[in-house]
Amino acid sequence: MNIEVQDTAAAARTLRASTRSGRTLRTPCFAPVATGGALKGVLTTDLPDHAFDLLLSNTYHLLLRPGLDVIESLGGLHRILDWDGAILTDSGGFQVFSLSGTRTIDNEGVSFRNHIDGGLLRMTPESVIDAQERFGSDIAMVLDVCPALPATKAELTHAVDTSLAWARRSAAARTREDMDVFGIVQGGFDTELRQRSALATVELGFDGYAIGGLSVGETAAEMYLGIEATVPFLPEDRLRYLMGVGRPDNIVEAVSRGVDLFDCVLPTRNARNGKLLTRAGFLNIKRAEYRLDDQPVDAECTCPACTRYSRGLLRHLYKSRELNYYHLATLHNLWYMADLMRDIRAAISTGGFDDLRAEVCRRYAETEPV
Ligand SMILES: [Zn+2]
Repeated sequence: MNIEVQDTAAAARTLRASTRSGRTLRTPCFAPVATGGALKGVLTTDLPDHAFDLLLSNTYHLLLRPGLDVIESLGGLHRILDWDGAILTDSGGFQVFSLSGTRTIDNEGVSFRNHIDGGLLRMTPESVIDAQERFGSDIAMVLDVCPALPATKAELTHAVDTSLAWARRSAAARTREDMDVFGIVQGGFDTELRQRSALATVELGFDGYAIGGLSVGETAAEMYLGIEATVPFLPEDRLRYLMGVGRPDNIVEAVSRGVDLFDCVLPTRNARNGKLLTRAGFLNIKRAEYRLDDQPVDAECTCPACTRYSRGLLRHLYKSRELNYYHLATLHNLWYMADLMRDIRAAISTGGFDDLRAEVCRRYAETEPV
């Protein structure tokens, strides 16, 4: 991956990155999540033009359904998603380690009962790289051990050591020259472990680095400490990826600490649950106060929902469980995220990033979702 630094504002930075496959990422970059090969409720052709550079899909979900043979037979993940931009696939580690009680980890890999039919599935560092190469991913993630927090020092140390051994095997398993592979730094909130994990992972020479093991139920302040304990040990000329973070205030805070790349189900999942993202913070469309409201959800938003539907009408569609609601609300939240990331990139370049960061944090703190 080639990196061209465009501008910086203290630790925040805006970059233009080219994947080995020749696709461009403008950072800070947010990747909408197409878990099992589809964005829920919208087509990729519905997205605003040139607003997103990256989509994320989940290796674990794709292996179970539709399965590697189907993905290969149908022309690969870009065809399945109908998407010409870059695709990042995660390693499945996070999903597997969330299924506590149904998995066993050994030095070679992890075995677990899947959540669909209870069948036994085994993943190793090598099988996960192989699957992502066969999907046609632009960016692959290594299989890591992501412990549930809070964890003991011994558990965190074991996760760091096993993740490092697996990262080494993942690097050796690569066969495709045109796929970037990112390493993942673990270590919880333990500064010394984070540093050791970061330095040793960087030594293996990956194309980018994820700050792993965060966004697993900790407070925002703890998450920021985890970022601060990691970023100083990552190289300037590689992307830094904070997995599973999508709240607008968390994003601007992480950008201010040097993070480049984000993914999260939050915008799309929140949309389906009636929680809309706006320049004024969260807007809960189910509230009675919007019943007769003829205003758009966000007057500055140019999405199909805001330009053609009122809050009152969207509330009616939500309350009636109309399928159109899910489509419109998802489009709105994705439009908001596209605008937010564009505004962040512009603000870093023009000197207004601190003001934007303060405004986003204030609005979202004032309107915590209920
Ligand atoms: Zn909108």
